[in-house]
Amino acid sequence: MTSAIVVGAGVFGASVAHRLTCEGWDVLLVDREEPAHPRAESAGETRLIRFSHGGDGWYTRSARRALALWREIEQEAGRQLLVQAGVAWFATREDGWEAASERVLREEGIPVERLSPADAARLYPSLRTDDLSFVLLEPDAGVLRAREATRALVELALARGARLELGEAEPDAGRVRLNGRLLEADSVVWACGAWLGRLFPRLVELRVTQQDIFFFEAGPEWSTPPVPGFVDYDGAAYGLGALDGNGVKVAPDVDGPALDPDVRSRTHRPENERRARDYLRARFPALANAPLAASTVCHYSLTPDTGFIVAPHPAHPSVWLLGGGSGHGFKHGPALAGRVLELLEGRAEPDPRLASGPRAPGRGLRTAGI
Ligand SMILES: Cc1cc2nc3c(=O)[nH]c(=O)nc-3n(C[C@H](O)[C@H](O)[C@H](O)COP(=O)(O)OP(=O)(O)OC[C@H]3O[C@@H](n4cnc5c(N)ncnc54)[C@H](O)[C@@H]3O)c2cc1C
Repeated sequence: MTSAIVVGAGVFGASVAHRLTCEGWDVLLVDREEPAHPRAESAGETRLIRFSHGGDGWYTRSARRALALWREIEQEAGRQLLVQAGVAWFATREDGWEAASERVLREEGIPVERLSPADAARLYPSLRTDDLSFVLLEPDAGVLRAREATRALVELALARGARLELGEAEPDAGRVRLNGRLLEADSVVWACGAWLGRLFPRLVELRVTQQDIFFFEAGPEWSTPPVPGFVDYDGAAYGLGALDGNGVKVAPDVDGPALDPDVRSRTHRPENERRARDYLRARFPALANAPLAASTVCHYSLTPDTGFIVAPHPAHPSVWLLGGGSGHGFKHGPALAGRVLELLEGRAEPDPRLASGPRAPGRGLRTAGI
């Protein structure tokens, strides 16, 4: 039986462990803490799943493939992990990210609607539209229950025979040092989120930044579904309506300051709360004075071009690096796992765009165009 050690039980590592066990691999999954622990990037309540990636066809297709895989995972898990409420992109110009996305979505045959601002106003209980050129609605997009989905992937992998061991792993050439032992496998995948740069400092360049999310109290008319998720790419903000008893979610998507991912106590920055409130006032006027219900602090692990890392270790061909989620990786987890499987089995060549090593800064693939 082919064997693998997967270090990191966030959405990337959990997806790989699940996929490999589905294909009959013998898998040891390792994490320093329980999967989707509070400081893991995959631990949030919700993450958007959308297919729009501007003019980038590769990421568009990956997200679309991931949708089908998430549906299969839901079926296997027997619970709803994906809420297909749609995602609306508020376009403030005719020739921006949204127009490029629309072109690629249509080429790929992915459902998309171009709405006039007046028609889009019907999607939300209150929406300011006088600054909008149009609204791009992705009806198949929506929200993933992130923490629950990550844990479900781990549970499914374990049910298929994977083993989970808690402990801090260290690379030792092609092997894994863990809890006083030196472990070997046919393949080793390091999927360590924000910690990947520390483990492989000469190969992985990550900026780890603090990102704050806010939940505001709102009436039942703001429930998602039917209220779709939303993205203001040029305004660097995104969110969704109230889901699972949480309030309306608003996340300013500007790069935050550097954050040590090991810091345990985290409080949101007052300037970000102001940003979130200003955004609500400007875009959803009925929520201008909505009380803050809760906030959470998370971190991005950003590559210079916001593209992922899916790469072999240059000195150890059986060792793979997987990470650089860059604030938009969650939805892609199962699709990336499929890609990793092909690479481990030698059925695909590594993509130079996803290589380790230095990268030129690039335009944001996440929900912030600034
Ligand atoms: C605020 C915020 C909003 C986001 N919004 C979206 C969104 O709407 N849509 C979307 O698709 N994506 C979104 N993302 C991005 C997405 O959440 C991440 O890209 C994804 O969760 C990254 O997963 P990961 O598995 O790489 O990292 P993690 O979830 O952090 O997992 C890494 C794991 O590795 C473990 N680990 C690290 N080092 C070691 C070691 N030495 N030994 C053992 N274990 C180790 C850690 O404990 C951790 O559990 C968002 C992220 C944030 C922070």
